[in-house]
Amino acid sequence: MIRIEGLSFRYGEGDFQLQIPELSVEAGTTTAFIGPSGSGKTTLLNLIAGIIKPETGRVETRDVEVSALPDPERRRFRVTTVGLVFQEFELLEYLSVLDNILLPYRIHSALDLDDSVRDRARSLAERVGISDKLARYPRRLSQGERQRVAVCRAVLTDPPLLLTDEPTGNLDPVNRERVLDILFDYVTESGTTLVSVTHDHEILARFGRVVDFRDFHVWGEGDDTGGGA
Ligand code: ADP
Ligand code: MG
Repeated sequence: MIRIEGLSFRYGEGDFQLQIPELSVEAGTTTAFIGPSGSGKTTLLNLIAGIIKPETGRVETRDVEVSALPDPERRRFRVTTVGLVFQEFELLEYLSVLDNILLPYRIHSALDLDDSVRDRARSLAERVGISDKLARYPRRLSQGERQRVAVCRAVLTDPPLLLTDEPTGNLDPVNRERVLDILFDYVTESGTTLVSVTHDHEILARFGRVVDFRDFHVWGEGDDTGGGA
């Protein structure tokens, strides 16, 4: 599903550099990315999703060299292939819960928004226990509810690859288990490949494999006291 070779990446500013000689993730598996804050976990998710491009090396996702695609194709690839749950959820405050879940269909012409998609959005919301809040705006949701909206949005397109960035960060234990159950039930049913960044060592046992970023050569990494930049 994911094949990385000779990857090196730097941001335009700062001395951070991520180097990954080789990393593969097989289809249908679950992988946790762990490592100190600032070690490049979020950066690597963004490279896999094709949101940013490596300086050198290859990032292949589903046999497509994402990094070599021109921008419009990269966006199309991302929206049709990758479900993303961002670290800060990235809900749009001016859209209702339902419209936030439907967002991938609103922002890209590769996806057609029809009644069957709306039905799927409603049934996902039902499954995660937020179906009574579809007309609400994000500012009137708890953290756990916002997280569940983000998960519904990420799986709405039924993506073959699901990338989640600290999906249980800032959640209380009850919501943490709930979000994990939702994610892993979904992965089991759909055969989706799951890659998840986590700080939460208590949940690692759920994953088939753990990749520790301390094994990669990282320059300019932050200390381990921050909140996961
Ligand atoms: P992690 O998710 O492991 O905490 P990140 O991938 O977010 O780490 O960040 C890795 C390093 O890159 C950090 O030092 C961070 O400050 C830096 N960084 C992240 N985003 C940017 C950016 N857009 N521009 C410059 N530096 C960045
Ligand atoms: Mg991060």
